[in-house]
Amino acid sequence: MTRVSSWGRLSDRPHEVIKLSDPARAVRLIAGQSVPGLAFGMGRSYGDVCLNHDGVLWLTTGLDHFIAFDDRTGRLVCEAGVLLRDIQRIAIPRGWILPVTPGTQLVTVGGAIANDVHGKNHHVQGTFGDHVQRIRLVRTDGETLECGPQKQSDWFAATVGGLGLTGVITEAEIQLHRVPGPWLDTETLAYANLEEFFNLADDSEASWEHTVSWIDCVTGGGGRGLFMRANPVDAGQRTHPKVRKLTIPIVPPISLVNRWSLSSFNMAYFNLKRIHAGCAISHYESFFYPLDNLLKWNRMYGPRGFFQYQSVVPRQVGEDVTQAMLDTIAKSGDGSFLAVLKTFGSRQPVGMLSFPQPGVTIAMDFPNHGARTLKLFERLDSIIREAGGRIYPAKDARMPRALFESGYPRLNEFMKYRDPGISSELSRRLMGC
Ligand SMILES: Cc1cc2nc3c(=O)[nH]c(=O)nc-3n(C[C@H](O)[C@H](O)[C@H](O)COP(=O)(O)OP(=O)(O)OC[C@H]3O[C@@H](n4cnc5c(N)ncnc54)[C@H](O)[C@@H]3O)c2cc1C
Repeated sequence: MTRVSSWGRLSDRPHEVIKLSDPARAVRLIAGQSVPGLAFGMGRSYGDVCLNHDGVLWLTTGLDHFIAFDDRTGRLVCEAGVLLRDIQRIAIPRGWILPVTPGTQLVTVGGAIANDVHGKNHHVQGTFGDHVQRIRLVRTDGETLECGPQKQSDWFAATVGGLGLTGVITEAEIQLHRVPGPWLDTETLAYANLEEFFNLADDSEASWEHTVSWIDCVTGGGGRGLFMRANPVDAGQRTHPKVRKLTIPIVPPISLVNRWSLSSFNMAYFNLKRIHAGCAISHYESFFYPLDNLLKWNRMYGPRGFFQYQSVVPRQVGEDVTQAMLDTIAKSGDGSFLAVLKTFGSRQPVGMLSFPQPGVTIAMDFPNHGARTLKLFERLDSIIREAGGRIYPAKDARMPRALFESGYPRLNEFMKYRDPGISSELSRRLMGC
């Protein structure tokens, strides 16, 4: 048994970890399992969606082969343990890019499908699942299914965003998008309050592919922040200065993120970035994945770990709800080191349990202070519930079952596709098995 944590490091309980590498052998291992198992990619989910303590984890990172790539059409076929980083490194020099990518490239294709991840361009490209053409899914009864948007589309809709609970994805076919190169034309603008944020978001969506903002949820509760937008650009031959990756070498005995460090960080970050606001040509790695430069940054929160709280609410109530959340956080005396605020486009989700819905999403990290932190989340939950919103399971370790059920109205339909030999800590908490 091996102790395994997810990105939030809230627990490290024992699991039996079984490494999958050869696809044919993987089918036998998955089908031969006597206790419930769960696929595990890079463990970049924050909470318990990728955990299954005292049970089995099928580690998929050994399923890392590229199977086919057509550089005339941008069609890629690969095993599910391939990292998004490796796809970008191979595809971008050939003029293709992953159409959707989350804020870290250190995730697997299988994990990106199972959480139906989103990026900074939801208003243009939707979610990762929008670009998947075919999946190979292995069930614990030994059956292998091929599904996609046109073939067995019900299985596809259950598996995209299906939290790993419908089977193990061993292979996927993805449609990449044309890109002129690795560079982006970027602009950073400071905003003073939420009204300015929403004006910037509305003005930018028609002409900018990527939009995202960092919001200061510590200082004053006013909602000031920095809005970033970007478009791919042909910037000719340039060299990307090698960024030296730093590592947090140990877990400090207490969290380095506390009230004092939070307000100094937020103040310094806002002022520094405001001074350097404006236009720039940026490399895709710096724009999409700034956090990947500080390896193991999750250790910063000390031995008790941290929670991420990510919600989405409809656009028409977005400003009031976001303000109410910021006020609640300010009153609690807690705050988030990094809070990300962005709008989602009006596309309907591909998966039955996909998180994105038209509206506005906020993602915030909070050090784990036990009951005090959970109390704050209860207050935030009631704001989200009343607004008709939902919480992102990929980031969750504690949402109440009632909020999950109200946020995901297709849950009953989804349950028919669950694999009885698969279970996670999240599924036991939110679905009862
Ligand atoms: C710094 C950072 C930034 C992030 N930014 C974003 C963001 O912008 N947008 C966003 O949407 N998410 C974001 N995330 C979350 C992350 O993208 C997702 O949690 C992603 O699913 C993690 O992939 P993984 O390979 O680590 O999967 P894991 O975390 O190991 O597993 C995630 C889920 O996928 C299932 N799974 C994994 N592989 C398979 C498989 N082969 N078959 C079936 N099920 C499988 C697991 O059972 C589990 O349910 C971020 C995470 C971090 C740490």
